Amino acid sequence: MKIGFIGLGNMGAPMAANLARAGHTVTGFDLNAPCPEGVRQAASAAEAVSGGEVVITMLPNGAILREVASEIIPLMEAGAVLCDCSTVDVESARAVAERAQAAGLGALDAPVSGGVGGASAGTLTFMVGGSDAAFTTVQPLFDIMGQKAVHCGGPGAGQAAKICNNMILGATMAVTCEAFALADKLGLDRARMFDVVSTSSGYSWSMNAYCPAPGVGPHSPADNDYKPGFAAELMLKDLALSQQAAAAVDADTPMGAQAMALYATFVEEEDGRGRDFSALLPRFTARGRG
Ligand code: NAD
Repeated sequence: MKIGFIGLGNMGAPMAANLARAGHTVTGFDLNAPCPEGVRQAASAAEAVSGGEVVITMLPNGAILREVASEIIPLMEAGAVLCDCSTVDVESARAVAERAQAAGLGALDAPVSGGVGGASAGTLTFMVGGSDAAFTTVQPLFDIMGQKAVHCGGPGAGQAAKICNNMILGATMAVTCEAFALADKLGLDRARMFDVVSTSSGYSWSMNAYCPAPGVGPHSPADNDYKPGFAAELMLKDLALSQQAAAAVDADTPMGAQAMALYATFVEEEDGRGRDFSALLPRFTARGRG
């Protein structure tokens, strides 16, 4: 397949490289980052999408996606599919899909879970919104870049699934970290705490797969001085998207709002920027209630 790929950062570069390695003709463009091996370098977004049957975008946010989309949609081949894999607000995803469809293109919002490790290993999970036909066209590419693609519904449904998942993740990581800090003050050994909770009703991905306590549970960023992993500022971005969506549809999400406020303080006023999102644990242990 002939593929255009725009946004070759931490996630986009390994995803594009995996498509090229699988034998597809991939032409890439990024404002700053170089093309990975096997991907043909385009001088502009327009050149990258020229002749592409599928165009994939992997960009920082909804405003940039809208900008890039308005540049490339008029230049894409009739019947081609624009597949955005960035994490953006539901409204931007729907606006871009509408514009693409009006121009005779297919459109998917297909944000991912799995991080840079999953992008490199080709084991991402895609949560996808858009038409059946567009999903069917891109599915073979999802199978190369990931281990699972769930067709969640119409335009925006992929982004809706992503922000709901990450709202759960942010809130459970925060409470897992505060529980460890409380356990410390109660004199409970961290390894025993893990042993109990990971097999009791408090278990979660944050505890079992990504334990925020160094030296406890499987290897995680906590064992690497809280280097990301999944950076606290990316968690803040996703929590802000979930609150934006909640406000737009009048949904009551107090735990999500609290998690966002906590990560905002951590990133904007404390030392959270550039640290893994599980570094809330040393933050909690370093302070008391005040
Ligand atoms: P990144 O900042 O490393 O990459 C984004 C790239 O887009 C950059 O290389 C930048 O130069 C490029 N770019 C910006 N504006 C552009 C434009 N107008 N034209 C062409 N290129 C442009 O970010 P990332 O970590 O690769 O994340 C990409 C998306 O994936 C984000 O929406 C993020 O929320 C989401 N995501 C990231 C992770 C993660 O762990 N990094 C996990 C899941 C989802």
